[in-house]
Amino acid sequence: MSRSGSPSTATMSAVFYVNLMALDEAVRGGMDTPLLCIKIGSGIGAGLVTADGDVHRGADGAAGDIGHIRAVGGHNVLCACGNVGCVGALASHRAVLRGLGIPESTDDDPLHGTRELARRIADSDPTALHAVRQAATETGEVVAMLVHMFNPRTVVLAGPLSELRDDLVSAVRAAVYQRALPLATRKLTITATQLQGTSGLHGGVALAARDVFSPAGIARLLTGEPEPGAGG
Ligand SMILES: [Zn+2]
Repeated sequence: MSRSGSPSTATMSAVFYVNLMALDEAVRGGMDTPLLCIKIGSGIGAGLVTADGDVHRGADGAAGDIGHIRAVGGHNVLCACGNVGCVGALASHRAVLRGLGIPESTDDDPLHGTRELARRIADSDPTALHAVRQAATETGEVVAMLVHMFNPRTVVLAGPLSELRDDLVSAVRAAVYQRALPLATRKLTITATQLQGTSGLHGGVALAARDVFSPAGIARLLTGEPEPGAGG
């Protein structure tokens, strides 16, 4: 969110993309709805598909920009937004790499950070394991809050850290089940994405199939304007 109070283009693009990922998890992944997709990448974002199969975009299309929710262990970590303690600044893939001193990319390898972290986890490097589990726990605290709010049937974790599925998923699960009440968790599934790579694109195709992916439809998504005939 910019200081002027309106979401930045980058923020809106990120939120839009995670909405598409969420839709793809529901449509192509066949996951039960309501479905909450949490993408942990350079930041942390969420997409929600309702029980009716609609993407919840919020009044201004900015719903799901959860990376700026204050983390329980946020302390004084400075976020790019200018606030301190945002969960995205503490628990994103980028934050984990920074904390471990791993460059995100090199001249030879744009995915250097992801590969190096995966290698250290595979080697059971205790510092890397601790960093991922700590990030997952912080994320899980926020997910627990969202579970109380939206009562999803499925939570899907996506992004580079989801490749480290065992450590990530188990730590998020532990935080959610400790925090959220049984009524909201007894039928809840928390899993890493099973879809590969381009799930956001497939989500876009799903949207297109619903005649929403027209230029006007995209403009409406980005500006938050209501669709024609929408009752509110
Ligand atoms: Zn922030």
